[in-house]
Amino acid sequence: MRKKVIAANWKMCKTPDQVQPFFREFLPLVASHDRDEIAICPPFLDIPAALEAGKDSNVAIGAQNMHWEKEGAYTGEICGSMLLAIGVTHVIIGHSERRQYFGETDDVVNLKLKVALELGLIPIVCVGEVLEEREAGLTEDVLRRQCLRAFHAISGKKARKMVVAYEPVWAIGTGKTATPQMAADAHVLIRAEAAKSFGEEFAEQLRILYGGSVKPENAKALMAESEIDGALVGGASLDPKSFAAIVRY
Ligand code: PEP
Repeated sequence: MRKKVIAANWKMCKTPDQVQPFFREFLPLVASHDRDEIAICPPFLDIPAALEAGKDSNVAIGAQNMHWEKEGAYTGEICGSMLLAIGVTHVIIGHSERRQYFGETDDVVNLKLKVALELGLIPIVCVGEVLEEREAGLTEDVLRRQCLRAFHAISGKKARKMVVAYEPVWAIGTGKTATPQMAADAHVLIRAEAAKSFGEEFAEQLRILYGGSVKPENAKALMAESEIDGALVGGASLDPKSFAAIVRY
C-alpha cells in the first residue's frame, strides 16, 4: 500500500500575514487525518510563518523550488540546505511553470533532484506534456524523456524518498482535468520508466501524484484510481475549506 500524498502548491500567492489565518481554519478540518501525507508548499517568504503555524501538526511544509548547488554566488537563489535548516521536508522540482517561464531544463531538474535527495528532502518531481504535444500524439515520448533525464545517474537507494507528479500542462490552472483514465495511463508509463531506471521493486513503491485542476468535486474520482497516489493542488489549495475537502475526498 502506497500512502497517498496530498500537496498544496500556493505558487506566488499569499503574504506572510495570510498564512496563520489559513492554518487556523485548515488544521482543525484535517486534525487526526493520517490516511494521507499532507504537505503545503508556500512561497519561500511564507515558509517560516507556515512552519510556525503548522508546528506539531500533521501538515508538512515544502518549498516550490531550490537551487542545485549547496551554496555560492547565485544571487536571488535559495538552496536545499537552507530549506532543511529551518525544517522544510518537501520540495517541488521541475514544475511546468519553472520549465516554461524560467527556462528550467530536464538537466537542471536532474541536478536539483540529485541534491534534494542527497540532503534528505522529499522531492516532488513534476513531469507533463503541453497541449500541442498531446494533440500531436507525443505524450508518451515527452514523459519518457522527462523521466529518463530526471532520473539520470541516480541510484534506487538514493531515490527512495522521491515522489513524482504527473501534471499535464494543459490541465494546470485551466479548469480542464485529465480523466482518471488518462491520468492512470500516464502513471503506468511513468512507473515503467521508474522500473527501468531503479528496478521493479522501487517502481512498485513509488508514489505518483496527479496535478491539474484538482478540486473537491473531482478529487474522489481521481483518487479512486489505484495508479494515482495523491494530488498536487494549485488553485484549490489556497482556500482552507477547499483544500481540506480535497484532503478528505
Ligand atoms: C499546480 O500548480 O501544480 C497545479 C496543479 O495547479 P492547479 O491545481 O491550479 O491546476
